[in-house]
Amino acid sequence: MVRVCVAAAACAALPDVDVLLWPLNLPDTSPFAHRALTHSLVFAVTAALAIAFVFFSDERWRASRTRIALVLGLALLSHSCLDALSTYSLGIGFFVPFSEQRYRFPWSPLGRPGGTIAGQLRQEALLVFLPAALIAWLAWRIRRRRAVAAPAA
Ligand SMILES: [Zn+2]
Repeated sequence: MVRVCVAAAACAALPDVDVLLWPLNLPDTSPFAHRALTHSLVFAVTAALAIAFVFFSDERWRASRTRIALVLGLALLSHSCLDALSTYSLGIGFFVPFSEQRYRFPWSPLGRPGGTIAGQLRQEALLVFLPAALIAWLAWRIRRRRAVAAPAA
């Protein structure tokens, strides 16, 4: 379980690996620009399957590898969806390489180009971290309640 959680956390951050290409000064319209290919559905599916195949290939994980790949894919997509809530950049290339169109959700409360870093961090703490912490706390409580109701044999 710890391995899955660590892999999911890494997958949630993985789409921003595209910043390594910033020194190349790629045009914003490039499929390799920030928030393009690595934030796409194709990348999420491919990376989730590859990571599940490579890091969960031993016998212990084999039976649940499909579910693990699904969790990793959702973690990868969560990054792109959170980015789509922001006003930074041109938007998210959800369908790169099939379409260069960039998308942003109609409600994009994160980021103000003229804002300060501290203001943006406060915004993200309120709109991203707080709900995530609440969901994690609720999940922990449900798990704990189930464990108390049905103790392990
Ligand atoms: Zn991103």
